[in-house]
Amino acid sequence: MMSNSGINSQNGTGGSSHVNGPFQIPATLNPQAQGCVAAPPGFPTMSPSKASLLPDQDYYTPRPYQSAPPRVSLYHSPSSSSVPSRPPEGPLQPFSPAKPAVHNHRVPLSPPLQSSPIVPVSNSLSQHHQQPRTGDPYMDNQVTPSSNPGFSQPSMAYSSGNVTPPSFCNALQSSGPPPAPAGNILMPVPRRIPTAHDITRAPTSSDQHEMGTMTGPYPPQPGQMNKKASTAYPSLVPGYQSMLGTPQTLPMHPLTQPYSSLPQQYCQPSVGPAQLSPTMSTLSLQSQTSEALRVMNLLQERTLLPPGPIPAPTPCLPQDLQKLNCSPEVFRSTLTSIPQTQSLLNKAKLPLGLLLHPFKDLSLPVVTSSTIVRCRSCRTYINPFVSFLDQRRWKCNLCYRVNDVPEEFMYNPVSKSYGEPHKRPEVQNATIEFIAPSEYMLRPPQPAVYLFLLDVSHNAVETGYLDVVCQSLLENLNSLPGDTRTKIGFVTFDSMIHFYNLQDGLSQPQMLIVSDLEDIFLPTPDSLLVNLSECKELVRDLLKSLPQMFTKTMETHSALGPALQAAFKLMSPTGGRVTVFQTQLPNLGVGALKSREDPNQRASAKDVQHLSPATDFYKKLALDCSGQQVAVDLFLLSAQYCDLATLGCISRYSAGSVYFYPSYHSQHNPAQTERFQKDLKRYLTRKIGFEAVMRIRCTKGLSIHTFHGNFFVRSTDLLSLPNVNPDAGFAVQMSIEENLMDMQVVSFQAALLYTSSKGERRIRVHTMCLPVVNSMSDIFAGADVQAIIGLLASMAVDRSVTASLSDARDAMTNAAIDSLMSYRTSVLTMQQPGLLAPACLCLFPLYILALLKQKAFRTGTSTRLDDRVFAMCQLKYQPLAYLMPMIHPSLYRLDDLTDEGALNVSDCTIPQPRMLQLTVEKLSRDGAFLMDTGSDLYLWVGRNCNPSFLSQVLGVQNYVNVPLNMNLLPELDTAESTRTRAFIGWLKEQRPFYPVLHIIRDESPHKTSFMQNMIEDRTESALSYYEFLLHVQQQVSK
Ligand SMILES: [Zn+2]
Repeated sequence: MMSNSGINSQNGTGGSSHVNGPFQIPATLNPQAQGCVAAPPGFPTMSPSKASLLPDQDYYTPRPYQSAPPRVSLYHSPSSSSVPSRPPEGPLQPFSPAKPAVHNHRVPLSPPLQSSPIVPVSNSLSQHHQQPRTGDPYMDNQVTPSSNPGFSQPSMAYSSGNVTPPSFCNALQSSGPPPAPAGNILMPVPRRIPTAHDITRAPTSSDQHEMGTMTGPYPPQPGQMNKKASTAYPSLVPGYQSMLGTPQTLPMHPLTQPYSSLPQQYCQPSVGPAQLSPTMSTLSLQSQTSEALRVMNLLQERTLLPPGPIPAPTPCLPQDLQKLNCSPEVFRSTLTSIPQTQSLLNKAKLPLGLLLHPFKDLSLPVVTSSTIVRCRSCRTYINPFVSFLDQRRWKCNLCYRVNDVPEEFMYNPVSKSYGEPHKRPEVQNATIEFIAPSEYMLRPPQPAVYLFLLDVSHNAVETGYLDVVCQSLLENLNSLPGDTRTKIGFVTFDSMIHFYNLQDGLSQPQMLIVSDLEDIFLPTPDSLLVNLSECKELVRDLLKSLPQMFTKTMETHSALGPALQAAFKLMSPTGGRVTVFQTQLPNLGVGALKSREDPNQRASAKDVQHLSPATDFYKKLALDCSGQQVAVDLFLLSAQYCDLATLGCISRYSAGSVYFYPSYHSQHNPAQTERFQKDLKRYLTRKIGFEAVMRIRCTKGLSIHTFHGNFFVRSTDLLSLPNVNPDAGFAVQMSIEENLMDMQVVSFQAALLYTSSKGERRIRVHTMCLPVVNSMSDIFAGADVQAIIGLLASMAVDRSVTASLSDARDAMTNAAIDSLMSYRTSVLTMQQPGLLAPACLCLFPLYILALLKQKAFRTGTSTRLDDRVFAMCQLKYQPLAYLMPMIHPSLYRLDDLTDEGALNVSDCTIPQPRMLQLTVEKLSRDGAFLMDTGSDLYLWVGRNCNPSFLSQVLGVQNYVNVPLNMNLLPELDTAESTRTRAFIGWLKEQRPFYPVLHIIRDESPHKTSFMQNMIEDRTESALSYYEFLLHVQQQVSK
């Protein structure tokens, strides 16, 4: 295979390739002499770290992993003595009642008992949130299919789980060719993740292959479609074609997306000319399953990374269902095949959960209809996976209630025909948006309201951030999402709170100072938040003069707490968004904090302290805000410790976002300033939803328990989101409460009700359908390793806070060990030596090691507390697509880019270099390498770098002339420069926020950051990938 030859040639040199590498390895440091485990060719034996000079056991003994039992798992609580196993009871608590202490060391998967971030609310605190002012009578107070107030304790018993009827996968498997022989080292041909580019291009045959293109009814597999609870699509043909490109007729119109810098069309599969026969689709599912289960010995497989992006696995569903399924970019499950019982799930030792990106920038079908068709029993929205019993009745796919089809649903506005309810867009689109009628409002939709809260202390003014914020606001004032009702206001603070009267009619803005921080009051409540279009000139005046107003200040105090209280008072009547810019630890009034970080302890401390908040002031205020539909976003720009663990609560519980710019300084740190400018532009102009709630429903028998992200849980499955933005991700954990034996498929539906910035009440609905399976091999075959890692990362963040960092680290390692052990004992029929994994999980140990070395969880290196806490925040609320490069960066060689295999995006050729393993072995001094970590791009230039790259791309004559701090590639008129800039530009466009490019050489300050991401290499405190594999193997073989 083409890709493979490249890997082999790079591998050929094995452990001795350091000679050509960028690092000098002292000759005496022979790995064998150090007692190191000899790695086979292809595995790096040691890192360039000076760590290898230390005594043996300091780095060869994987101490963290050899701790005595009890074993730590992310799926159950840590030992009952050390940590409260559950949050205090409260009326809003979505969790299970107390469970008996677990004594078994190897406890089956059970609903996690550690608290969700949103839960531990005291009774008194939560009381006034019981009656939200703005709610949705339809979303609120409804029985949900999964509701199970007691969250009955799942069975603790293991089930042999192999006597149930065949599933889809089984049925398909049994009729097909045998699986590929084990040990096959050919790489699978990766199916690419659709990119922005892909979605707009014409479908190719491979797209159709993936999405399904059958136009005819799916012929039922024997024994599949005739069960009593079958939710299979009825014999009515899903013939609806994508609405994109189809002329729209009222009342539907495509959702425009004026705020997105990267508009993506909703990827609705269309029916193409090249249709697959049912037989072919069956074969494709089957080969997919056998490829996913191909046995790999990780100790011998060196080349696990596919050359390009790793696609989400396709659920093992009949094509007619799969082609209607929700895009994995929006909705993803850790297991694309749902186990029939909790005991099967326990046995597989894999986490079950969903990852959502519900408000992603998309063009999607929008329906205006006076009747939104929902199940009368569980309130599920009608969706592609319901079944029509006949033209007048449909059966809910979540609770199985039979509902009537309303008269007006009989008319199909797309085909303009009558009597085809199954062809309505609601039944043809897994992602759809409704314009809600008035019963979805308790009050008129709120206007867009923006309040900016600006730190103007001496420290803040010194960083120069105020100019950037004011300038950016001036530039984007007309692009703020909103309409003629949009309101805006400004508050600045140091040791006092300054309000600005911007009332229409004033000749200039009027500053009103409140010095009494004890009992905050609003000096002129009616003129502090003003209509933006009416008062735009005064707003402009203020933004122009604000940066100069405080240049001489010597005030070092920061009364953030009182300022936030003022903001809350100001915003309470309407709701809206508060944007806080803070540059130091608040030290005056309520919410004042003291530094809790001891820099000397960073690297040496046995465990990391102060990951939980120092005071509950910010959390309480956030909950007050949430009750009044106010979200608080925090921009933290600081060189010093700011206690993000405490301050971040203000955003976390009010559904806001946190942005962090360590060492920010407008002059001294131009790269950070550029990032801040670009991020602000995105932040100010992106889409926003107000007074939102999101409910996730699932088929009866499944239950959702722990939520991850920024929100407040209002009732068991209703998330309160005062604001929702297109860059927010969510995750939930699930358990299987009842046997799903009678079901072929289960469905999940996320419904997001929000007020658009134009004052429309809208509901965005995503529905995903997944098969139910009853064999361990089918469960493993459907494992989605990236989704699993995304969910485990969130669970580990919670564990770090509720228990300890070391506990979380052990638990992550155990997650890999346990599932591979389960695979070995329950799936493998033939035992072989080595560390065996199914192909679909071959990256699991690597990703776990990557998490252990991630800023959030690493130990042994000096990691600033705020940096660590920020990484944890990101792991909790970033959508999976943005999370993966943070966990496992991508490395490419750039000095030999060619157009071979390049993409063509709007007439621009984008080279696609292959991804390299994260080890210094892949670097060489004669090359230039790019590392993409999500937030930063590092272009490392080797000392002997190809002179043509230096001159044609970097525009310098030789290596010495590469500047130490360079953040921009010159625009040279050469083919090499065009290619390199095209590729880097394309990478930058893959995410909503701005990654900074650092061009570095060996002497550059950023080289450490670059090298720290070489996950496969050993460091002072962490194992190499090969050592980690040996450790896992040792545990698995026990
Ligand atoms: Zn229902």
